[in-house]
Amino acid sequence: MKAIRFHEHGETDVLRYEDAPDPRARPGEVVVRVRACALNRLDVWNRRGVVRLPLPHISGADVAGEIAESSDSELPVGRRVLLQPGLSCGRCEACLDGRDNLCPKYDVLGSQSDGGYAEFVRIAVQNVVPLPDAIGFVEAAAFPLTFLTAWHMLLTRARLRAGEDVLVLGAGSGVGQAAIQIAGLHGARVFATAGTEEKLARAREIGAHDVINHHAQDVPAEIKRFTNNRGVDVVIEHVGEATWDRSIKCMARGARLVTCGATTGYRANLDLRFLFARQYSLMGSYMGTKGELLRAARFFFSGQLRPVVDRTFPLAEAAAAQSYLERGEQFGKVVLEV
Ligand SMILES: [Zn+2]
Repeated sequence: MKAIRFHEHGETDVLRYEDAPDPRARPGEVVVRVRACALNRLDVWNRRGVVRLPLPHISGADVAGEIAESSDSELPVGRRVLLQPGLSCGRCEACLDGRDNLCPKYDVLGSQSDGGYAEFVRIAVQNVVPLPDAIGFVEAAAFPLTFLTAWHMLLTRARLRAGEDVLVLGAGSGVGQAAIQIAGLHGARVFATAGTEEKLARAREIGAHDVINHHAQDVPAEIKRFTNNRGVDVVIEHVGEATWDRSIKCMARGARLVTCGATTGYRANLDLRFLFARQYSLMGSYMGTKGELLRAARFFFSGQLRPVVDRTFPLAEAAAAQSYLERGEQFGKVVLEV
């Protein structure tokens, strides 16, 4: 098959479009013909070698396609599917408790295993989700990782309730656009930040109640103005060092901050007096459970959640696609078409 592989870590010039061995299904697995694979920030970290990976390596966590090889009668060859990106052992306490993203062997498709920047990918049957005919492959590939992440952050970690105020940082990011929609769907009032007026307009289109230009405006001051000095109940963080102090200043008494990333750096300051006196909860979040993805997918398949696709590239141009992602000009997902 054709695939995008890297044989060493580095910048986008290490990504090669080349022949790679066809994957074969082992017991309990199927092979999927990839039709679309969305990019994630994780792909960039993997390429740069933030964690050790088997080389040569094929990235790609967010896949939609068709079953190409299967011995499972419920997943016949040709069936349209999207893939759960979270891989877990399926037999430990966390997995059997329905908290598979806490599995000691938890991994994301395209990290320790080969992913979807290829014509074919191998995957366990429990990671396969049948896809309704009405949903295209590109839109389907844009859904799993970011909507799963945002769902787990808002509903499982922060326990969002209807009527609460939520601040979503980086409306144009994959997690940002998903969080705005999921919070809105659950009856929250959503405030969102972005760096351009165009992105702020798009954030409003997908459900943000009010928006803040984080380059031109003082985010905590605007949040105080929107909330009558109170602050928000939930902050959705993934930016890290560059925004942490401001995010804390946006919190109401008793508020929860959930973070799933630190794109700009991982050192954060914390004034413990505010933590206890204002009763903040600061929470980490990583991916989500298989059950959560199926629940979120119900809203996707019924049209109530719509992943935003910014742009597609052909598989062979994955290097250009990753460079585009790293420039941060997109609103929504960047997707490879295979
Ligand atoms: Zn497990």
